Amino acid sequence: MNAIPVFLYHAVSCDPPAWLAPYTVSPRTFVEHLDMIADNGLHLVPLRQLVAALHGGPELPPRCAVLTFDDGYADFASTVAPLLAARGLPATLYVTTNALTNPGTPSRRGPFPSVAMLSWAQVGELDAAGVEIGGHSRSHAQLDTLPRKAVREEVGGCKRELEDALGHSLTSFAYPHGYSSRRVRAMVGEAGWTSAAAIRASAFSSVRDDPLWFARLMVRADTGRERFTLWTRGEGAPVAPFAEGARTRGWRAYRRTREWAGRPYRALPA
Ligand SMILES: [Zn+2]
Repeated sequence: MNAIPVFLYHAVSCDPPAWLAPYTVSPRTFVEHLDMIADNGLHLVPLRQLVAALHGGPELPPRCAVLTFDDGYADFASTVAPLLAARGLPATLYVTTNALTNPGTPSRRGPFPSVAMLSWAQVGELDAAGVEIGGHSRSHAQLDTLPRKAVREEVGGCKRELEDALGHSLTSFAYPHGYSSRRVRAMVGEAGWTSAAAIRASAFSSVRDDPLWFARLMVRADTGRERFTLWTRGEGAPVAPFAEGARTRGWRAYRRTREWAGRPYRALPA
């Protein structure tokens, strides 16, 4: 099966807060990654092209990959977008709406402490510049531990807020922390999202993957050149779709129990 890397980045910065550092790469490393992608013959395509193929649409070009960014850190506008624009590369940016700032009004309590987040105006500018904006919930909650009503608020509310702000419909969602369940995935589809990005323990996607649960490769501070090179060759990680493992199910049960007991597991972004 043809392994399709959908790379997942968080912050691209030299000075992240300590909690974010494991999920941050430096601008220099990010440029190296873009070079390695090109040098190894990978062709970056917009996410919608992969999603169209997952829905049975036109075939993808051979050896393609997708770039995605989660959460909505301010460095996307200052660092990432200019680097992508200079190379003419497509990307999808999934934003958490409660974390987006609005100058002049006190920011809502966001889930990402001590780090600059994008403003609503910047998200509008990125959208106008051709970056695909996707939803990443309102508060970055662990959706698979929440009651239905709360999931609907997070998934549908985030879509309404973004569509109102940008003036057009959006189709791409990413699960906060990568966490979902069959019920959450169904509700994401009911809310009108036509694709939803997961992590699946860091795996390649493929044309047989689930559009509402497609796998991504999480690029972390400790990913390293060797591993990234393997990924650009379609090696070094499993290829989705595959069945959910017992470990993932057990981990969800643990997080749900904590949530019900009023002591939620404090997950860091992913
Ligand atoms: Zn996230």
